[in-house]
Amino acid sequence: MPDIASLLTRSHELSGISETPRLDTELLLCHVLGKPRAYLYTWPEYRLLPSEVAGFEALFTRRVRGEPIAYLTGWREFWSLLLRVSPATLIPRPETELLVTLALALPLGDTASVADLGTGTGALALALASERPLWQISAVDAFPDALALAECNCRELGYGNVRVFRSDWFSALAGSRFDLVVSNPPYIDAADTHLRQGDVRFEPASALVAPDDGFGDLTVIIERAGEHLNPGGWLLLEHGWQQGGMVRQLMSQAGFLTVATHLDLAGRERVTAGRMA
Ligand code: GLN
Repeated sequence: MPDIASLLTRSHELSGISETPRLDTELLLCHVLGKPRAYLYTWPEYRLLPSEVAGFEALFTRRVRGEPIAYLTGWREFWSLLLRVSPATLIPRPETELLVTLALALPLGDTASVADLGTGTGALALALASERPLWQISAVDAFPDALALAECNCRELGYGNVRVFRSDWFSALAGSRFDLVVSNPPYIDAADTHLRQGDVRFEPASALVAPDDGFGDLTVIIERAGEHLNPGGWLLLEHGWQQGGMVRQLMSQAGFLTVATHLDLAGRERVTAGRMA
Protein backbone atom coordinates (compact mmCIF):
# COMPACT_ATOMS: atom_id res chain seq x y z
CA MET A 1 0.00 0.00 0.00
CA PRO A 2 1.27 3.54 -0.74
CA ASP A 3 2.50 5.75 2.09
CA ILE A 4 1.47 9.34 2.83
CA ALA A 5 4.56 10.83 1.13
CA SER A 6 3.90 9.03 -2.14
CA LEU A 7 0.20 9.96 -2.19
CA LEU A 8 1.11 13.62 -1.67
CA THR A 9 3.20 13.51 -4.85
CA ARG A 10 -0.07 12.87 -6.72
CA SER A 11 -1.06 16.49 -6.15
CA HIS A 12 0.30 17.52 -9.58
CA GLU A 13 -2.68 15.67 -11.12
CA LEU A 14 -4.87 18.49 -9.75
CA SER A 15 -2.82 21.34 -11.19
CA GLY A 16 -5.21 21.80 -14.12
CA ILE A 17 -8.34 22.23 -12.01
CA SER A 18 -7.15 23.70 -8.72
CA GLU A 19 -5.08 26.67 -7.64
CA THR A 20 -4.12 24.75 -4.49
CA PRO A 21 -3.31 21.19 -5.63
CA ARG A 22 -1.05 20.33 -2.70
CA LEU A 23 -3.47 21.66 -0.08
CA ASP A 24 -6.37 19.84 -1.74
CA THR A 25 -4.48 16.55 -1.66
CA GLU A 26 -3.57 17.09 1.98
CA LEU A 27 -7.17 17.89 2.94
CA LEU A 28 -8.49 14.75 1.23
CA LEU A 29 -5.85 12.61 2.94
CA CYS A 30 -6.67 14.15 6.32
CA HIS A 31 -10.35 13.51 5.72
CA VAL A 32 -9.79 9.86 4.86
CA LEU A 33 -7.39 9.30 7.77
CA GLY A 34 -9.41 11.37 10.23
CA LYS A 35 -6.24 13.25 11.22
CA PRO A 36 -5.09 16.87 11.29
CA ARG A 37 -2.63 18.16 8.68
CA ALA A 38 0.33 17.99 11.07
CA TYR A 39 -0.04 14.19 11.01
CA LEU A 40 0.91 14.08 7.34
CA TYR A 41 4.24 15.72 8.12
CA THR A 42 4.90 13.71 11.28
CA TRP A 43 4.18 10.33 9.69
CA PRO A 44 5.05 10.59 5.95
CA GLU A 45 6.05 6.91 5.97
CA TYR A 46 2.63 5.74 7.28
CA ARG A 47 1.24 3.15 4.86
CA LEU A 48 -2.48 3.49 4.34
CA LEU A 49 -4.86 0.59 4.91
CA PRO A 50 -6.54 -0.75 1.76
CA SER A 51 -9.83 0.85 2.82
CA GLU A 52 -8.11 4.20 3.32
CA VAL A 53 -6.47 4.00 -0.11
CA ALA A 54 -9.84 3.19 -1.70
CA GLY A 55 -11.43 6.12 0.10
CA PHE A 56 -8.68 8.48 -0.99
CA GLU A 57 -8.77 7.30 -4.61
CA ALA A 58 -12.54 7.78 -4.81
CA LEU A 59 -12.38 11.36 -3.51
CA PHE A 60 -9.25 12.26 -5.46
CA THR A 61 -10.86 11.13 -8.72
CA ARG A 62 -13.88 13.32 -7.99
CA ARG A 63 -11.58 16.27 -7.27
CA VAL A 64 -9.75 15.65 -10.59
CA ARG A 65 -13.19 15.98 -12.25
CA GLY A 66 -13.60 19.34 -10.52
CA GLU A 67 -15.85 18.75 -7.51
CA PRO A 68 -15.12 21.27 -4.74
CA ILE A 69 -13.13 20.03 -1.74
CA ALA A 70 -15.88 21.18 0.63
CA TYR A 71 -18.46 18.94 -1.09
CA LEU A 72 -16.02 16.00 -0.91
CA THR A 73 -15.25 16.38 2.78
CA GLY A 74 -18.70 17.75 3.69
CA TRP A 75 -17.23 20.62 5.74
CA ARG A 76 -16.09 24.20 5.35
CA GLU A 77 -14.83 26.66 7.93
CA PHE A 78 -16.50 30.06 8.14
CA TRP A 79 -15.75 32.63 10.81
CA SER A 80 -13.97 29.92 12.82
CA LEU A 81 -17.11 27.76 12.80
CA LEU A 82 -17.00 24.36 11.17
CA LEU A 83 -20.08 24.12 8.95
CA ARG A 84 -21.58 21.17 7.18
CA VAL A 85 -21.99 21.84 3.47
CA SER A 86 -23.77 20.03 0.66
CA PRO A 87 -24.60 20.59 -3.01
CA ALA A 88 -27.98 21.91 -1.77
CA THR A 89 -26.42 25.32 -1.38
CA LEU A 90 -23.43 27.62 -1.77
CA ILE A 91 -20.13 26.85 -0.07
CA PRO A 92 -19.49 29.76 2.33
CA ARG A 93 -16.82 32.12 0.95
CA PRO A 94 -14.14 34.00 2.89
CA GLU A 95 -15.27 37.30 1.35
CA THR A 96 -18.66 36.88 3.03
CA GLU A 97 -16.90 37.24 6.41
CA LEU A 98 -16.70 40.95 5.55
CA LEU A 99 -20.46 41.13 6.04
CA VAL A 100 -20.11 39.58 9.50
CA THR A 101 -17.39 42.07 10.46
CA LEU A 102 -19.54 44.99 9.30
CA ALA A 103 -22.64 43.71 11.11
CA LEU A 104 -20.72 43.36 14.38
CA ALA A 105 -19.45 46.94 14.07
CA LEU A 106 -22.97 48.43 13.81
CA PRO A 107 -24.32 50.45 16.76
CA LEU A 108 -26.90 47.80 17.72
CA GLY A 109 -28.09 46.84 21.16
CA ASP A 110 -27.27 43.59 22.96
CA THR A 111 -30.69 42.13 22.17
CA ALA A 112 -31.08 43.22 18.53
CA SER A 113 -33.43 41.27 16.26
CA VAL A 114 -31.83 40.08 13.05
CA ALA A 115 -32.95 38.33 9.85
CA ASP A 116 -30.62 36.39 7.54
CA LEU A 117 -32.36 35.96 4.19
CA GLY A 118 -31.30 32.99 2.04
CA THR A 119 -29.24 31.56 4.85
CA GLY A 120 -28.03 28.44 2.95
CA THR A 121 -25.66 26.64 5.34
CA GLY A 122 -26.65 29.17 8.00
CA ALA A 123 -23.18 30.75 7.79
CA LEU A 124 -24.13 34.39 8.37
CA ALA A 125 -26.75 33.70 11.05
CA LEU A 126 -24.50 31.32 12.96
CA ALA A 127 -21.42 33.54 12.77
CA LEU A 128 -23.48 36.42 14.21
CA ALA A 129 -25.00 34.12 16.84
CA SER A 130 -21.52 32.99 17.90
CA GLU A 131 -20.52 36.60 18.59
CA ARG A 132 -23.81 38.00 19.92
CA PRO A 133 -25.52 35.35 22.07
CA LEU A 134 -28.42 37.68 22.95
CA TRP A 135 -29.34 38.73 19.42
CA GLN A 136 -32.55 37.05 18.26
CA ILE A 137 -31.77 35.74 14.79
CA SER A 138 -34.23 34.46 12.17
CA ALA A 139 -32.44 32.43 9.48
CA VAL A 140 -34.66 31.79 6.46
CA ASP A 141 -34.33 30.07 3.12
CA ALA A 142 -36.77 29.19 0.35
CA PHE A 143 -35.26 25.77 -0.34
CA PRO A 144 -36.05 22.77 1.94
CA ASP A 145 -32.66 21.08 1.37
CA ALA A 146 -30.82 24.24 2.34
CA LEU A 147 -33.07 24.65 5.40
CA ALA A 148 -32.30 21.11 6.54
CA LEU A 149 -28.60 21.91 6.28
CA ALA A 150 -28.95 25.19 8.20
CA GLU A 151 -30.97 23.38 10.89
CA CYS A 152 -28.30 20.71 11.14
CA ASN A 153 -25.54 23.30 11.54
CA CYS A 154 -27.60 25.19 14.08
CA ARG A 155 -28.20 22.03 16.10
CA GLU A 156 -24.56 20.95 15.99
CA LEU A 157 -23.29 24.36 17.06
CA GLY A 158 -25.99 24.56 19.69
CA TYR A 159 -26.87 28.26 19.53
CA GLY A 160 -30.23 28.79 21.13
CA ASN A 161 -30.78 32.24 19.63
CA VAL A 162 -31.19 31.22 15.97
CA ARG A 163 -34.55 30.18 14.53
CA VAL A 164 -34.44 28.48 11.12
CA PHE A 165 -37.58 28.47 8.97
CA ARG A 166 -38.83 28.58 5.43
CA SER A 167 -39.37 31.93 3.79
CA ASP A 168 -38.88 33.15 0.24
CA TRP A 169 -37.10 36.41 1.15
CA PHE A 170 -39.70 38.20 3.33
CA SER A 171 -42.71 36.02 2.40
CA ALA A 172 -43.07 34.37 5.83
CA LEU A 173 -42.06 37.51 7.74
CA ALA A 174 -45.22 39.58 7.28
CA GLY A 175 -45.60 41.91 10.24
CA SER A 176 -42.08 41.23 11.56
CA ARG A 177 -39.55 44.01 11.96
CA PHE A 178 -35.84 43.70 12.60
CA ASP A 179 -32.97 45.91 13.69
CA LEU A 180 -30.74 44.30 11.07
CA VAL A 181 -31.39 42.39 7.85
CA VAL A 182 -28.44 40.63 6.23
CA SER A 183 -28.30 38.63 3.04
CA ASN A 184 -25.89 37.04 0.60
CA PRO A 185 -28.46 36.46 -2.16
CA PRO A 186 -27.85 35.06 -5.64
CA TYR A 187 -26.45 37.89 -7.75
CA ILE A 188 -24.76 36.40 -10.80
CA ASP A 189 -26.15 36.90 -14.30
CA ALA A 190 -27.02 33.57 -15.96
CA ALA A 191 -24.74 34.40 -18.91
CA ASP A 192 -21.68 35.07 -16.71
CA THR A 193 -18.81 32.79 -17.84
CA HIS A 194 -17.67 32.54 -14.18
CA LEU A 195 -20.52 30.02 -13.70
CA ARG A 196 -18.86 27.59 -16.08
CA GLN A 197 -15.45 27.63 -14.41
CA GLY A 198 -13.95 25.83 -11.42
CA ASP A 199 -15.79 24.86 -8.25
CA VAL A 200 -18.79 27.09 -8.96
CA ARG A 201 -19.97 24.61 -11.66
CA PHE A 202 -20.95 22.20 -8.89
CA GLU A 203 -22.91 24.69 -6.80
CA PRO A 204 -26.69 25.08 -7.30
CA ALA A 205 -27.85 27.83 -9.65
CA SER A 206 -30.59 28.63 -7.11
CA ALA A 207 -27.90 30.06 -4.80
CA LEU A 208 -25.91 31.86 -7.49
CA VAL A 209 -28.02 33.07 -10.39
CA ALA A 210 -30.53 35.91 -10.35
CA PRO A 211 -32.66 37.39 -13.13
CA ASP A 212 -32.29 40.95 -14.45
CA ASP A 213 -28.53 40.86 -14.99
CA GLY A 214 -28.10 39.42 -11.49
CA PHE A 215 -30.03 42.25 -9.77
CA GLY A 216 -33.42 40.49 -9.47
CA ASP A 217 -33.13 39.23 -5.91
CA LEU A 218 -31.08 42.17 -4.63
CA THR A 219 -33.86 44.46 -5.92
CA VAL A 220 -36.66 42.49 -4.24
CA ILE A 221 -34.83 42.52 -0.92
CA ILE A 222 -34.01 46.24 -1.09
CA GLU A 223 -37.55 47.23 -2.07
CA ARG A 224 -39.23 45.18 0.67
CA ALA A 225 -36.68 45.67 3.45
CA GLY A 226 -38.19 48.99 4.53
CA GLU A 227 -41.41 47.31 5.76
CA HIS A 228 -39.36 44.89 7.84
CA LEU A 229 -36.87 47.21 9.51
CA ASN A 230 -37.37 49.11 12.74
CA PRO A 231 -36.68 52.85 12.49
CA GLY A 232 -32.90 53.24 12.24
CA GLY A 233 -32.55 49.55 11.27
CA TRP A 234 -29.79 48.39 8.96
CA LEU A 235 -29.66 46.44 5.70
CA LEU A 236 -26.38 44.73 4.76
CA LEU A 237 -26.14 43.05 1.38
CA GLU A 238 -23.38 41.14 -0.35
CA HIS A 239 -23.23 41.66 -4.12
CA GLY A 240 -20.98 41.23 -7.13
CA TRP A 241 -17.89 43.43 -7.39
CA GLN A 242 -19.36 45.40 -10.30
CA GLN A 243 -22.79 45.86 -8.72
CA GLY A 244 -21.93 48.38 -6.00
CA GLY A 245 -23.05 51.49 -7.89
CA MET A 246 -26.43 50.05 -8.79
CA VAL A 247 -27.03 48.65 -5.30
CA ARG A 248 -26.24 52.05 -3.75
CA GLN A 249 -28.68 53.67 -6.16
CA LEU A 250 -31.44 51.12 -5.40
CA MET A 251 -30.94 51.54 -1.66
CA SER A 252 -31.00 55.32 -1.83
CA GLN A 253 -34.18 55.21 -3.95
CA ALA A 254 -35.77 52.90 -1.37
CA GLY A 255 -35.17 55.50 1.34
CA PHE A 256 -31.98 54.22 2.96
CA LEU A 257 -29.56 56.73 4.46
CA THR A 258 -25.79 56.61 4.93
CA VAL A 259 -25.55 54.12 2.07
CA ALA A 260 -21.95 52.93 1.70
CA THR A 261 -20.14 50.09 -0.02
CA HIS A 262 -17.25 48.23 1.60
CA LEU A 263 -14.35 46.46 -0.08
CA ASP A 264 -13.41 42.82 0.41
CA LEU A 265 -9.81 41.67 1.00
CA ALA A 266 -9.25 41.63 -2.75
CA GLY A 267 -10.12 45.34 -2.82
CA ARG A 268 -13.42 44.79 -4.63
CA GLU A 269 -16.80 46.33 -3.79
CA ARG A 270 -18.55 43.48 -2.00
CA VAL A 271 -21.01 44.62 0.71
CA THR A 272 -23.31 47.63 0.78
CA ALA A 273 -24.87 48.89 3.99
CA GLY A 274 -27.72 51.33 4.52
CA ARG A 275 -29.80 52.61 7.40
CA MET A 276 -33.56 53.06 7.37
CA ALA A 277 -34.69 56.57 8.23
N1 GLN B 1 -19.37 35.33 -4.70
C1 GLN B 1 -19.89 34.11 -5.26
C2 GLN B 1 -19.16 33.76 -6.53
O1 GLN B 1 -18.61 34.60 -7.15
C3 GLN B 1 -21.37 34.22 -5.54
C4 GLN B 1 -22.15 34.31 -4.31
C5 GLN B 1 -23.59 34.65 -4.57
O2 GLN B 1 -24.12 34.58 -5.66
N2 GLN B 1 -24.23 35.02 -3.55
O3 GLN B 1 -19.09 32.61 -6.90
